[in-house]
Amino acid sequence: MSAHKHDASPTDCADFLEQIVFLIDNELAEPDADEVKRHLQSCNPCLETYDQQRIVKAVVARSCTEVAPGDLRAKIMVQIQELRTRS
Ligand SMILES: [Zn+2]
Repeated sequence: MSAHKHDASPTDCADFLEQIVFLIDNELAEPDADEVKRHLQSCNPCLETYDQQRIVKAVVARSCTEVAPGDLRAKIMVQIQELRTRS
């Protein structure tokens, strides 16, 4: 039996931010993905991050077929780094 705390502390969010990136990439196993999704439903900042990252990812995926978005990719990496180090 594990006690599951439900309020989102900054530490939890830092953890989840990393998971969010994996979730978008579909690299999470289902139990983990479910947990992240549940957190997103109760945590607005994380949900916003998730939406933002998804949009960015979609834009990159689309523009990949046209031009190699080196600049954009670099910008996203910086953004992800910022998200990871912010806690
Ligand atoms: Zn959160």
